[in-house]
Amino acid sequence: MQYIMSLDQGTTSSRCILFDKSGNICSVVNKEFRQIFPKPGWVEHDAEEIWDTTYEVAHAAMAKLNVTAKEIAAIGITNQRETTVVWDRDTGEPIANAIVWQCRRTSDIIDKLVADGHADMIREKTGLIPDAYFSGSKIQWLLDNVPGARRRAAAGKLLFGTIDTWLIWKLTGGRVHVTDYTNASRTMLFNIHTLKWDEELLELLNIPASMLPKVRPSSFVYGKTDFEMFGGEIPISGAAGDQQCALFGQCCFEPGTMKNTYGTGCFLLMNTGTEPVMSRNGLVTTIAASAGDRVHYALEGSIFIAGAAIQWLRDELGVITSAKESQQFAEKVPDTAGGYVVPAFTGLGAPFWNQRARGCVVGITRGFSRAHLVRATLESLAYQTHDIARAMERDSGIPIAELKVDGGASANNFLMQFQADLIGSDVYRPRCIETTALGAAYLAGLAVGYWESLEDVKNNWAVDRVFTPEMEEGRRKELLRGWDKAVKCALLWGQD
Ligand code: ADP
Repeated sequence: MQYIMSLDQGTTSSRCILFDKSGNICSVVNKEFRQIFPKPGWVEHDAEEIWDTTYEVAHAAMAKLNVTAKEIAAIGITNQRETTVVWDRDTGEPIANAIVWQCRRTSDIIDKLVADGHADMIREKTGLIPDAYFSGSKIQWLLDNVPGARRRAAAGKLLFGTIDTWLIWKLTGGRVHVTDYTNASRTMLFNIHTLKWDEELLELLNIPASMLPKVRPSSFVYGKTDFEMFGGEIPISGAAGDQQCALFGQCCFEPGTMKNTYGTGCFLLMNTGTEPVMSRNGLVTTIAASAGDRVHYALEGSIFIAGAAIQWLRDELGVITSAKESQQFAEKVPDTAGGYVVPAFTGLGAPFWNQRARGCVVGITRGFSRAHLVRATLESLAYQTHDIARAMERDSGIPIAELKVDGGASANNFLMQFQADLIGSDVYRPRCIETTALGAAYLAGLAVGYWESLEDVKNNWAVDRVFTPEMEEGRRKELLRGWDKAVKCALLWGQD
């Protein structure tokens, strides 16, 4: 057995990577699929297309390396989180398109839950801030709006799943209906303390328990692939949401360890150990992927606009021609000449949670140039990360020792140095930045003994570069004071 297959089912593409024991990428195939926007603010995927592209990339990755099922020790799955599929138990047909995590169609359901005074209860049980983002209200919407769905659900004919569940069900030829703790913790229906689906929440959202998958650890043999699929029965033994997989792939196994993924948005997660830490600073509490007997928890903070702000510089403003070029521009000037960019294009996420805040460029004078603008935009990724990191310190009581980074924009050396300067701790960029897929591979491999222990896996983690804080404390404080004022401007704009 030479390889672990990792199926990385993301928001825009499905990808398969075959990893070897040292965590090397031996084969990778990627395929994009359709984004469906039926109305403003609505986002859907065709669940069959998600399955077809996953199946296709899995076969293509095997063919590229000329391997058979016999050489694959196990399959791990990592997925876009919260996206909701409902299908018929007998025919396997989805009753509608999948509702994607970004979709805002259920905002009214959430507003009503909050107006009716359920927010605290939801927070306490699920660790989440009630939001249309999570799966619960999406299931309710499907049952209420697809003709006949409610009747079929009541008769036990329908099944719900996040994408991990859907893929496992497909891979096992419809024999296994299961999810893992991390994905369950994003449904807003799962009690993260008792580790059970919560009856009160199911009743509140009017969702029959018969639709829900069994919940299992993230590193666990859920079942085997249907023989026909790959010409052999391969164990499916790892599953976790994308951000939790990245945390695991970065080997953040101990309490206090954390990672930040700099993609379109940023996702900062801190492992808080076997006790859930409830946030008083605007973060959510979620279940982390773990390989042992006990569940680990994480604090999570999300930034809506991060790398997307660099795309804005490139596509809307045309001040750079590629994301990479942002580094050269930023390095042309010693600072931002006192200016700040707050990219609150869709409001502000953690720790502010303000839907009405809007983006602003403030503090500028006559000398503020294109290079200053690019630099200030890049710096905004680091400032936003700083705010979440400090909120995490306050919530967890654990000072940040180091930050591990990944995602597309972590390639930017200027940004990483500025990040280290702002948070005042070392920033570690690993050699393998495909940490999401790697995390799923580790979870799967650990469950079948391909890797023996966490120590075994940790030996694979290799650093590409460490960024050490160099900025003088006075300067850091001064910059942060300016940023706080800039954020106030963005928040003020949202007020009537
Ligand atoms: P996602 O998984 O969210 O699609 P990726 O991890 O692929 O995101 O990262 C892509 C994002 O990173 C884009 O928004 C892009 O603007 C940004 N990005 C990529 N390279 C750089 C770079 N060198 N400097 C700054 N931003 C970058």
